[in-house]
Amino acid sequence: MSARRVIVIGSGPGGSAFGALMAHAGHHVTILERNGFSGGKCSSLPHGGYVVDTGVHMFGRGPLGPFGEVSRILGVGPRWSAATPAFTLSLSGGHKLEMASSIAHPVSLLNFLKGHLRGWQRMGWTSTAVKSLHELGPARLFSLARGFNDRRYPLYGELQDVCVRDFFSSISDCDDFLRTFHAQAMLTMVLPWHRASMGEFAYILASTMRASRLCYPRGGSGAIPASFLRALERRGGEIRLGCEVASIEIAGGRARGVITAEGEFIPGDTVVSSAGLRRTIELAGRDAFPAVYVDRADGLRDSEAFIAVKFFLDRKISSIRTPCLLHMPGLSPHGMFDYLEDGSIPAELFLFVTAPGRWDPSLVPPGGDCLIFGVPAPSRLDRGAQAEALLDLAEEMAAAIFPEISAATVAVERIMCTDVSCLSGRISGDCIGIAQEVGQSGSFRPRSATPVDGLFLAGADAGGRGIGTEMAADSALRLYWQLKV
Ligand SMILES: Cc1cc2nc3c(=O)[nH]c(=O)nc-3n(C[C@H](O)[C@H](O)[C@H](O)COP(=O)(O)OP(=O)(O)OC[C@H]3O[C@@H](n4cnc5c(N)ncnc54)[C@H](O)[C@@H]3O)c2cc1C
Repeated sequence: MSARRVIVIGSGPGGSAFGALMAHAGHHVTILERNGFSGGKCSSLPHGGYVVDTGVHMFGRGPLGPFGEVSRILGVGPRWSAATPAFTLSLSGGHKLEMASSIAHPVSLLNFLKGHLRGWQRMGWTSTAVKSLHELGPARLFSLARGFNDRRYPLYGELQDVCVRDFFSSISDCDDFLRTFHAQAMLTMVLPWHRASMGEFAYILASTMRASRLCYPRGGSGAIPASFLRALERRGGEIRLGCEVASIEIAGGRARGVITAEGEFIPGDTVVSSAGLRRTIELAGRDAFPAVYVDRADGLRDSEAFIAVKFFLDRKISSIRTPCLLHMPGLSPHGMFDYLEDGSIPAELFLFVTAPGRWDPSLVPPGGDCLIFGVPAPSRLDRGAQAEALLDLAEEMAAAIFPEISAATVAVERIMCTDVSCLSGRISGDCIGIAQEVGQSGSFRPRSATPVDGLFLAGADAGGRGIGTEMAADSALRLYWQLKV
């Protein structure tokens, strides 16, 4: 094997995993990161006595997903924390149900039953079974169930052209059932269900249910890329922080290296960008690609955003016992995320709340806590006023769900789309990357290889599948298997 000279642009989950894997395989790797810290959208920074995620993160598969596979190849990786019960389902009306990572765990089953018997949440299992049988017929239902259980995930391709709304509306009329899946699509793909691909969603549901391992890395979300970067350096690779790539050098249809914002030329025979597909095209120059490739990239849409409000607390509050909480608004499942498109403010929000100090006490001062409230929001940067109003509502809801929060709060901080765009270097505050939506998912998803020899994409814009960070790591793994020899 002749060693490649690899330049990786970006140190998020995709770039750090890919760089470390290639260094492990004996290649010469340099990662260039424009921020003064590593991790991209999956980073954690010190803040007073707290270590705080820059986003609001939770991991569906942890050591059993692509991060685990990267760690097994490298021989090192993050240490994962798990908890039972893992999350609280907060329902409109102030009811709370605690759930384990697995839906089949006795804690989850008992609480589902409790919610049903008390009329807090009626999933309509019987009416859904009857409607599914009537609409799909037994043969189709059987084939879907078999596909769902198949480790080769055939539904990923089979359902790529169906949106999540059409699939679930065809099998159920029950509001609680439909609301649950609309919220899940938003949580995992950050898309309203009429855009989200059912193929991608079936893959996410099947793979996370198989793993049943809702977890979080010790040291914060940023510990994942940080552990890969340590592995990179141990293998002689280099990470340069605060080093922005200004252009990718192409000559004779081949990538030859990059030029930094400081004007330094760094040669490389393989350039792998995790800066995103469209940004990579700009860096290399649009003329370097066939017009049809550039047009296609221009037409792709990004996911929507999660903005957040972070509460720094001087004590633990007793109204949350789990490291994560999902609040389900009592709104119609069909209109609950309309505000992303029409600019309105809904009566109630879907909230994704994490308490990283409950997974890893070293992230908060002794006795203290930090609650991060994530709110789905439009990713466009020109919707700042709407985003502020959404976070005002999130703060009001926080006080209603956790009555002791105001007295315990020592500081509050907001994360807006402009902050996320600074973390990623993208022109929107999108959470995931290129959206996993109908028409750009499955076989339509951009590939890691580009039309330029020696220029590739890694990360959440190309080649992988799954949830956010895990999709970025999956993309890195697939490209590594392609390029390692
Ligand atoms: C608020 C929020 C909540 C989220 N919640 C979850 C969650 O719960 N679970 C989950 O799995 N995922 C979650 N995600 C999504 C996840 O963080 C992203 O999908 C993932 O980080 C994408 O990884 P990446 O490596 O492709 O890109 P990024 O993490 O965006 O990294 C790209 C890196 O490239 C660098 N870069 C860009 N341009 C240049 C350049 N010209 N020169 C040098 N460097 C450059 C950037 O600075 C950045 O560090 C969340 C994201 C956000 C914002």
